Amino acid sequence: MEECIFCKIVKKEIKASLVLENEKFIAFLDKSPIFKGHTLLIPKKHIETLFDFSEDYLKEFSVETKRIAEGVKKGTNCDGILLINNNIVSQSVPHFHVHIIPREKGKPLRGFMWPRTKYKEGEEEEFADRIRTALTKI
Ligand code: AMP
Repeated sequence: MEECIFCKIVKKEIKASLVLENEKFIAFLDKSPIFKGHTLLIPKKHIETLFDFSEDYLKEFSVETKRIAEGVKKGTNCDGILLINNNIVSQSVPHFHVHIIPREKGKPLRGFMWPRTKYKEGEEEEFADRIRTALTKI
């Protein structure tokens, strides 16, 4: 069976623009962002859905979600944050992840999770760096 793509990111077998890594969690930029700075936070342990979390682990994950959201907000200078978890239905990667998406007033979503934008040369690392820097101050 093909190994989980997010487990491969955890093991550094696939490259991603990391914005945080600690003992339990890892956060990186979505390769196909809705808005620039769109970040995914995942547990390092392979947990498929919300329902597979222990309560204690989910509490820790929620606290980290808040912290990363703060980093994305400060790092991208956006007005607000959209948090999404596609749970089973429309979940294209079966490893739990929360989408932490910067939103700006006057920049509506043109569709649900669609269309996606692209980073210009060097821009992806710049966004990851801005969020990393913001996170060191939270
Ligand atoms: P979902 O469809 O809610 O399960 O979201 C999965 C997300 O993972 C999508 O937004 C993809 O763009 C993103 N994604 C898939 N593979 C990678 C990867 N290798 N690096 C970064 N993001 C990824």
